[in-house]
Amino acid sequence: MRWSLPVGKLFGIPIRVHLTFLLLLAFIWYVESSVQGPYAGFYSLIFWVLIFFCVFLHELGHSLVAQSYGLKIASIILLPIGGVSQITEIPRDPIKEVAITVAGPAVNFLIAGVLLLFGKGLFPSLQFSEISLQSGSIVVDLFWANVMLGLFNIVPAYPMDGGRILRGLIAMKREYVEATKLAADVGKVFAIGFIIIGFFYNWWLILIGIFVFSSASSEAEATVLSSTLEKIEVRDLMITDFKTISPDEPLTAVVDKSLHTFQNDFPVVEDGRFVGILTRTSVIESLRHRLHETLVKDIAKKDFPSILPEAKAAEALTAMRSSHVTVAPVERDGTLYGIITIEKLLEASDLLNDKDK
Ligand SMILES: [Zn+2]
Repeated sequence: MRWSLPVGKLFGIPIRVHLTFLLLLAFIWYVESSVQGPYAGFYSLIFWVLIFFCVFLHELGHSLVAQSYGLKIASIILLPIGGVSQITEIPRDPIKEVAITVAGPAVNFLIAGVLLLFGKGLFPSLQFSEISLQSGSIVVDLFWANVMLGLFNIVPAYPMDGGRILRGLIAMKREYVEATKLAADVGKVFAIGFIIIGFFYNWWLILIGIFVFSSASSEAEATVLSSTLEKIEVRDLMITDFKTISPDEPLTAVVDKSLHTFQNDFPVVEDGRFVGILTRTSVIESLRHRLHETLVKDIAKKDFPSILPEAKAAEALTAMRSSHVTVAPVERDGTLYGIITIEKLLEASDLLNDKDK
């Protein structure tokens, strides 16, 4: 993620802190110390650093359970609105997903429990009965902060923890896609609730509401897309009726060809073997620089993910997205079977989902 600083590694997981998070700490310190004096400023700073340490432990809870299932954790990032564990592949197994998700809030409740026991044991005069983040005692404040963090996270607002738990529970009985859509809809209702409540009580909730709403939609879409595309193979979607071009042709010939077809990108084929793809963008780019003399081989793109005809459409989409291409050859050992485009994959997903309805 951009604007995040690496701070170390724990259990093999890189830990990063987002720059805006440091700005938030500076802001809290500045406001508190100028309004309430230097002691209050210092107290708030320590308090918030400790809270974010608890948020970090919460994320570590998710990550360690995920690791125990053999999943890879790309990193843990601390943001002002909380932490994110970047688990490379969230399992489609509802039981594992629920276990990974429950571990986060469970850590907060565990910390709260420990603080309560130790606080009561060591400082019998401490008052835990009143909900407060400003009791003046760091133990009591942290206790309540963790109780709130735990409770807040189990609100079933997908993609927050509670929403993921809800999705996992629904997915034990129903299809994964359907469960995701349902959880996302519940999430959006909660998000609107957060925004409305936020207007009256706490502007922080407005931010979280906006975040939950937009990520509920985008995560649900991504899940629907990948689950749909897992059911089809690339050979059922690839374009097989296309024109090819040879590496020694001039660009002017390409322009001519493209005027007579719907095709945007041309596979470059030499002696019956696939050698690259000429994309519309690279043609336009060359023409803009008036490179009319250019030959196809000068600007054809050669590094493409190699996609096999029997690959799942979902795999193709992931491979194309991670190498930032919108088109890729479907080939085996240099023999070209067809071309596949991101547009085609998205279109197929839409069609299949409409059919399901
Ligand atoms: Zn969590």
